[in-house]
Amino acid sequence: MMAVVIDPGHGGENTGTVAGELVEKDITLMLAQALALSLHDLPVSYHLTRYGDDELSLLERGQIAEKYGADLVVSIHVNAHAVERFHGLEAYHWPGSYAAKIGADAMADVCPKRLRAARVVVARRPDSADSRWLENPRAVLSAFKAPTILAECGYSTNPNDNEYLLDKWGRAEVVSCLRSGIVAALREIEEARPYDRDTP
Ligand SMILES: [Zn+2]
Repeated sequence: MMAVVIDPGHGGENTGTVAGELVEKDITLMLAQALALSLHDLPVSYHLTRYGDDELSLLERGQIAEKYGADLVVSIHVNAHAVERFHGLEAYHWPGSYAAKIGADAMADVCPKRLRAARVVVARRPDSADSRWLENPRAVLSAFKAPTILAECGYSTNPNDNEYLLDKWGRAEVVSCLRSGIVAALREIEEARPYDRDTP
């Protein structure tokens, strides 16, 4: 049976982005818990890297994923940017990971309308020195050996996205989008394409 590891970003003292009432570490945990429940009818095992408000390094997250024998990792985050109009879902993957690409594409395809935009981002170049971005996608992706999708589920700094992520129905729609990505990626992995290498 394949194993899916869901990684709720941040935790403990590491709150992630905070904007108004939105605290990234709490949103990512709520999304991860609901996403895990939504996988119960699939023939897979699923695990979270953290189940509570725990502070974990990226190294520890990678070790936990290995311990569970992850075939697929979905790391859940919320984006932030100094420019308020930046919005929407972004799904990152390494260029060498075909399964993660398929999963990211599926997430973008069914992205909730309220997020108004979805982008699949190939983590190809070194991150720019643009400090207006809080997150370092390549660092997150680097933590995991299995095919990994980093889902940045909207921008805390965009009023529309912020309100949407604080709403339980909004989060339910995001969960269903992430689930579609997992299903699509698992199908690819099961077909065991020999050229799938999850490397930068
Ligand atoms: Zn984050």
